[in-house]
Amino acid sequence: MKKVVQLRPKDSAKAHENEGGAPDGKREKAPRAVVVLGATGSIGRSTADVIKGADGAFTVAAVAGGRDAQALARIARELGAPFAALADPAGYQDLKIALAGSGVEAAAGPQAVVEAALREADIVVGAISGAAGVAPTYAALKAGRTVALANKECLVCAGPAFMKQAQASGTRLLPVDSEHNAVFQAMGEADLDAVEMITLTASGGPFRGWSAERIAAATPEQALAHPNWSMGPKITIDCASLMNKGLEVIEAHYIFGVEPERLDVLVHPQSVVHGLVAFADGSVSAGLAAPDMKVPIAHCLAFPARLRTQARRLDLAAVGQLSFERPDFARFPALRVALDALRAGRGLPTVLNAANEIAVEAFLNRRIAFNEIASLVEAACDAALGDGVAREPETVAEALDIDRAVRERVRSSLPGEAAAS
Ligand code: NAD
Ligand code: MG
Repeated sequence: MKKVVQLRPKDSAKAHENEGGAPDGKREKAPRAVVVLGATGSIGRSTADVIKGADGAFTVAAVAGGRDAQALARIARELGAPFAALADPAGYQDLKIALAGSGVEAAAGPQAVVEAALREADIVVGAISGAAGVAPTYAALKAGRTVALANKECLVCAGPAFMKQAQASGTRLLPVDSEHNAVFQAMGEADLDAVEMITLTASGGPFRGWSAERIAAATPEQALAHPNWSMGPKITIDCASLMNKGLEVIEAHYIFGVEPERLDVLVHPQSVVHGLVAFADGSVSAGLAAPDMKVPIAHCLAFPARLRTQARRLDLAAVGQLSFERPDFARFPALRVALDALRAGRGLPTVLNAANEIAVEAFLNRRIAFNEIASLVEAACDAALGDGVAREPETVAEALDIDRAVRERVRSSLPGEAAAS
């Protein structure tokens, strides 16, 4: 797989030199303007909490959401955003009514979300779930915005195009994902050549101690009960299957420009150590924090300054013990399938992401069993390798073409699909 642009803290600091105020508690400059894509979701709401607690360090230029007009209107009012975009065009009237008298401009449809992404701002928070975030997040990058990226599926679907565009625009992708944010902070100013291994930790999810048989028969309710984090449904299912960690290794490959051989995963049930960087001299730096997404969100919003937040504090004495173990690929095959896709390269990460989105949706709709998520995704990857879809997408348009084709193929392979159509 081609080497891509690497994210270095010192370069990122440089990229911010000419931007709006760096909120540091003793602010002298103008507030930093933020756009929040996926404002009604779990990351979106945590972002809103950080912004509201930041004592005027930020203004909000636009918010965007998927289908929930009421929730989007609420958050737009709460944050004083002048523009609110709903992806679902059918929700336009509801949004307009919910925003009546507020002075907030309402818009709906996928293009409106792109418009939100392009509103004048210093930083765009990419917190849409799934490949639905690719087009607007990419538009923000292309317009030269700094992007604080939670939406890892953007990189799994179209990593090479995103990293190339970030370089071309002279802008930055700051990692909100807690593991990548920890690695980014632990890496410091180190030369990538001096990095021996980057390790992402995984909580192990709700099925960590379960037998393969029990996991196979797990219900959506059981899979949605994550022990440490409260998140949107798609990522919560990905955490239960460990597909999330596979997507994150792919994300790390693109964002840090590190080949698969230098990326590792450890299961760490306490979710305190989020990422580790091992250096050539034997030193290891780790990023630690309480499991609270407000920590990496605040880090990205204020970067390179530091914000004072109300995020949960880490009390190591209260945690008592930190434990680590190797992931079990036999009980969690989704992680193996994702790592195989990364090693196979070309368009396989794109295929993996699309197939996984359809499989997760089918599991949540009780159309397939939990263990069929990994097998459907693996079958889609094998099929792609077999028929040449596996070319690496160089542009976002190419990535989205592959994404669409794979979604269709996987959907039509779902049980009952042929009879239903
Ligand atoms: P979520 O389901 O809670 O929220 C998703 C948001 O995206 C909602 O606001 C939804 O309305 C919006 N959305 C959906 N389709 C849209 C579209 N077409 N256009 C505009 N908005 C759309 O998900 P989440 O847990 O907040 O996760 C968001 C992203 O962040 C995911 O990619 C996830 O993997 C990543 N992430 C989440 C966490 C977490 O703790 N929740 C941690 C790390 C990374
Ligand atoms: Mg993560």
